[in-house]
Amino acid sequence: MPQYYIWTIGCQMNKAESERLGSFFEQRGYQAAVAAEEADLIVLNSCVVRQSAESRVVNKLSALKPLKRLHPDLTLAVTGCLVNSEADQLKKSFPHVDYFFKPGDHPQWLEKAELGPVLPRHPTPSTFVPIIQGCDNFCSYCIVPYRRGRERSRPVTEIACEVKELVHRGVREVTLLGQNVDSYGHDLPDKPDLADLLRELNTIDGLARIRFLTNHPKDLSPRLIEAVACLDKVCELICLPVQSGNNDILTAMRRGYTVEYYRRLIARIRSKIPGIALSTDVIVGFPSESEPQFQKTAGLLSELRFDTVHVAAYSPRPGAIASRELEDNIPLAEKRRRLNKIEQLQESIATEINARLLGETVEILVEGRIKGKWQGRTRTGKLVFFGDSGDYLGQLVKIRIDKTSPWALQGRVELNSIN
Ligand code: SF4
Repeated sequence: MPQYYIWTIGCQMNKAESERLGSFFEQRGYQAAVAAEEADLIVLNSCVVRQSAESRVVNKLSALKPLKRLHPDLTLAVTGCLVNSEADQLKKSFPHVDYFFKPGDHPQWLEKAELGPVLPRHPTPSTFVPIIQGCDNFCSYCIVPYRRGRERSRPVTEIACEVKELVHRGVREVTLLGQNVDSYGHDLPDKPDLADLLRELNTIDGLARIRFLTNHPKDLSPRLIEAVACLDKVCELICLPVQSGNNDILTAMRRGYTVEYYRRLIARIRSKIPGIALSTDVIVGFPSESEPQFQKTAGLLSELRFDTVHVAAYSPRPGAIASRELEDNIPLAEKRRRLNKIEQLQESIATEINARLLGETVEILVEGRIKGKWQGRTRTGKLVFFGDSGDYLGQLVKIRIDKTSPWALQGRVELNSIN
């Protein structure tokens, strides 16, 4: 039986697509290889959102050259955001790669016919479901719209059928994915929005939880806030990247909102959805970001106190607007200093937020076992570990928290439920 191996880096969308690619290969008689060296087909699902990610992809491709030389029959393919429209250029740069195919596409050399979506064969209790591909926003630092193209939503009925089938295969929780889930549906005939989709999925028997990411502050609607507040399966967690706490930087980033607007949006979300957890993304060292502008970002994070902050140092992406028009003029050491500052700040905020859960009982969905401990997440996305000899995979379990840290919680089973 031929074997396949998929190497994935990058966002959850890449992970979801790799999971589905694996099923696609298995339906065609392949089985998963434990190592690239044993595979007949290797796929690299790439990310180029930052220079560091692109470098890892290029290094991995170089490392595979000797293997390809040794086994010329090995098929080497690349998908993900490295694959742009300049296929000839890619082929010239990586002549040992047999095929390049666009993110979300099926490998056309294996199957010429048009295919519907392929589902993960053995999904984990919590599984990703892409609902919209591409992005129409063109934030100045971002390469995604150039690589993943314009927005294309999947119909509500198609997604609902898929989720029902996933539940049939043991899934309890789905995370709906899109570069901007708030854009969902505008390109479909009846123009449903994310709130409509959540209402539909909320009726699916056996499905316990629904999540979604990522949102865009300029597009998040009152209807969505209302849906999160009133639908029992929709989890209380919103990922809302702010990127900067300074209006001039936000304008240069072409984000389409101001700090004041963002602050009001957070206040509205918190007032309508009690217990909501919020996560955000921040970029430090954007071209010409001054120290006071950086301090505005730090100040906003201190004020709004997010549960999680993902911080990245600005990395120019060739082809993106900022890399064409703005000089990358913040030294690397300064970017690192700012990044460390934000990480330290967030560590202390998350320490305080999570410490409030000490002694509380939380419900988690058990997703797996790592180093002898079960792990799962609360509805608000907190990672929880507990030790127990029972089999809890895929169950909703009540855990009493007896230890907290900025990154995770630990506890013991109080009462479990298998509903
Ligand atoms: S919303 Fe902006 S940052 Fe997000 S994928 Fe689209 S262009 Fe990139």
